[in-house]
Amino acid sequence: MSKPNSQRPFHVIIVGASIAGLTLAHCLSNTGIDFTILEARSDTYPDGAGLAILPNGARILDQLGLYQDVLDQGQCMVSHSTWLETGHLLRRVDAGRIRSFGRFDYPVLVIARRALLGILYTRLQSSRLFFNRRVVRIVSSSDNVTVYSADGMSVSGDLVVGADGVNSIVREQMWHHIRETNGAVASSRWFSEVPLTDSFAGVFGIAQSIPGLKKGDVHRTYGHGWLTVIMVGADSRVCWFMSITRTMMPVLIPRHTSDRAYVSRIVEPFLKKHVTSDVTFGEVFNRSESCVVASLEEGFQNRWSWGRFVGIGDAVHKMAPNIAEGANCAIESAASLANHLVFFARGSTPLYTEDRLTAMLKAWEDSRKRRTRGLFLISQCAVRIEAATSWVLKLNQVFLAHFHGTGIGLLTSITSRTARVDYLPLPLPQQSSTQQVLEKKEHESGWNWQVIILPLAAATSLMFHVLHALVL
Ligand SMILES: Cc1cc2nc3c(=O)[nH]c(=O)nc-3n(C[C@H](O)[C@H](O)[C@H](O)COP(=O)(O)OP(=O)(O)OC[C@H]3O[C@@H](n4cnc5c(N)ncnc54)[C@H](O)[C@@H]3O)c2cc1C
Repeated sequence: MSKPNSQRPFHVIIVGASIAGLTLAHCLSNTGIDFTILEARSDTYPDGAGLAILPNGARILDQLGLYQDVLDQGQCMVSHSTWLETGHLLRRVDAGRIRSFGRFDYPVLVIARRALLGILYTRLQSSRLFFNRRVVRIVSSSDNVTVYSADGMSVSGDLVVGADGVNSIVREQMWHHIRETNGAVASSRWFSEVPLTDSFAGVFGIAQSIPGLKKGDVHRTYGHGWLTVIMVGADSRVCWFMSITRTMMPVLIPRHTSDRAYVSRIVEPFLKKHVTSDVTFGEVFNRSESCVVASLEEGFQNRWSWGRFVGIGDAVHKMAPNIAEGANCAIESAASLANHLVFFARGSTPLYTEDRLTAMLKAWEDSRKRRTRGLFLISQCAVRIEAATSWVLKLNQVFLAHFHGTGIGLLTSITSRTARVDYLPLPLPQQSSTQQVLEKKEHESGWNWQVIILPLAAATSLMFHVLHALVL
């Protein structure tokens, strides 16, 4: 039996030390909440892809004192160009024009995923982070939750947070727990784990610099059934990814592989396609230091928490990478969950009972879902239009390309719904002289967001679903 709640700090067990898990740990540091992080991997971070850090993620990293490091190792976006696979330019937008669209704070920043994880990890300096601890089982009781790892170790706490990515063991164990303890609820048709879809495969990597691809430039290219996004980061290194419609894939692909020979076979049909007027995809691929083929699952869970279980990041809202919101939303979810946890643990009733936790987590989940679901739907539409095979959807690519400047501006605007760490001050440059303007603008841009982006998203979404039913 654990000590009575009032005699010890609230203890959170975080499963997964990637973007969501490490951000949550930073948010909980110095709050009086204890945390333990269990990570399946060793302490070396795999190469992976590049990430675009958008203002919503950047502001939280700034509050946590990490933004300067990210800025030092990243590269601000200079321009965004959209191409057809023939090398025909559809549209080029300068970042300055995008930034001026109602957003006056953070630039779009390109950084290698490994570099971002390195910053989050080294700056955490926690003795409570354990690598090589793959979680295999979780048992929740009315008193506490115990998390078991494959090495035979276990740790108990008040709450387990699944920051363990798309194939989350915490999500799986939460549903197992619901079935065991609430069979009737779990058998409801509307209350179940949402299966992931994998209509697209992703190929991604990082290449050495390529003449013709300039630092800070982002190139987006539409092909027949595929899309590439190329972001030129610091040191002119080229972060790239390709989404390919499953129906274009000759073979069933594994969930994740970095076997070079295998990846080469997958990209072979695309090597001669243009990613800009002067550069072919083959040139990018041949200069790649790392490359991976992976399934690009999508899934928005209806239920993010239950009892002593909760999920954040890809574990509950896994979106296609086209709109570059997956990691940024993971950062937002971590910060907003931390807000609720801190408020809960500092509350006047120092009892960490399952009932109180359930109510608090449900309130958090409800507060986050609307914004995240909107971004999820937009990413779903975007990937289907951008990697379309049908000519009707392809017509929309031209519309999207012309809408990109506005679209990026709107999607990356900080609004009143954008999460931040409520108990930390807003960073000074934005705060000092312009705080009132900032808050007013946040309010206004929240209004603009709803007035402009929601009808657009609804129209695009409706259009997609109608077209999907008629054409695909
Ligand atoms: C090609 C590509 C490009 C992308 N580009 C962008 C972008 O530009 N901007 C953006 O915002 N997002 C982007 N994303 C999405 C982004 O990478 C993810 O949304 C983000 O990594 C999610 O973070 P996470 O912490 O939730 O999960 P993950 O990063 O998947 O981390 C999960 C962690 O949990 C660990 N884990 C898993 N199972 C266990 C277990 N049983 N026990 C212990 N630990 C476990 C894993 O080892 C891992 O460290 C991109 C994704 C891809 C594939």
